[in-house]
Amino acid sequence: FAQFKNVQKSYDGETLVVKDFNLDISPGEFVTLLGPSGSGKTTCLMMMAGFETPTHGEILLQGSPINSLPPHKRGIGMVFQNYALFPHMSIAENLAFPLEVRGLSKAETEEKVAKALSMVQLTGFEGRRPAQLSGGQQQRVALARALVFDPKLVLMDEPLGALDKNLREEMQLEIKHIHEQLNVPMIYVTHDQAEALTMSDRIAVFNDGVVQQLATPDVLYEAPENAFVAQFVGENN
Ligand code: ATP
Repeated sequence: FAQFKNVQKSYDGETLVVKDFNLDISPGEFVTLLGPSGSGKTTCLMMMAGFETPTHGEILLQGSPINSLPPHKRGIGMVFQNYALFPHMSIAENLAFPLEVRGLSKAETEEKVAKALSMVQLTGFEGRRPAQLSGGQQQRVALARALVFDPKLVLMDEPLGALDKNLREEMQLEIKHIHEQLNVPMIYVTHDQAEALTMSDRIAVFNDGVVQQLATPDVLYEAPENAFVAQFVGENN
């Protein structure tokens, strides 16, 4: 459904921060890119989203190469760790923005905004500004904004990294629930092993720009292919 084919990335023309990345995500699948800081996970998301171009290789969506397609034409929703909400806009305006950009009518926009807010349990918060919400609520708005235009694929970069442990666990369940409801494929980036193990259908373990193993949580945990995977996946468990 969404594919990375022999993808490499260098920012300086010398060092490869992603080396020959291959991944084929099935419709409805939840795939996590797990690895230490600086291992190339975010760079992979950015290439799928269209904010970075691969130095080598191809990105495909539903079988079509999208390397030269700009981000807003890819139909991909994205959630960042720092929420990236527009501070001067109300919650409803934040959600309406991606729909207005796509030329939807006012009535359609209102209907989709109401549906997305209800999905993240924030009906009634339409008129507030982001600063008037808690961190968890702001992240829910960011999630709703990534879903509001019915994306083909959703990317999440450490979306729960700024939240405390209890809230993080609550939001993990909520994201999984939304994923099951919508059945939209998701690529999730985290350096948290427990989070990856509980949420994912498959996990790609990154180290230094190289996927060390791509497998289901069970296989990763029970049959790590090398010492790095064994140590990294086993940490904090
Ligand atoms: P983190 O969890 O810390 O975000 P990551 O696994 O997502 O780490 P990347 O952010 O993809 O890793 O970074 C991989 C490497 O590429 C790092 O060495 C980083 O310094 C470098 N890098 C990332 N973005 C850029 C950029 N825009 N320009 C130059 N180098 C970059």
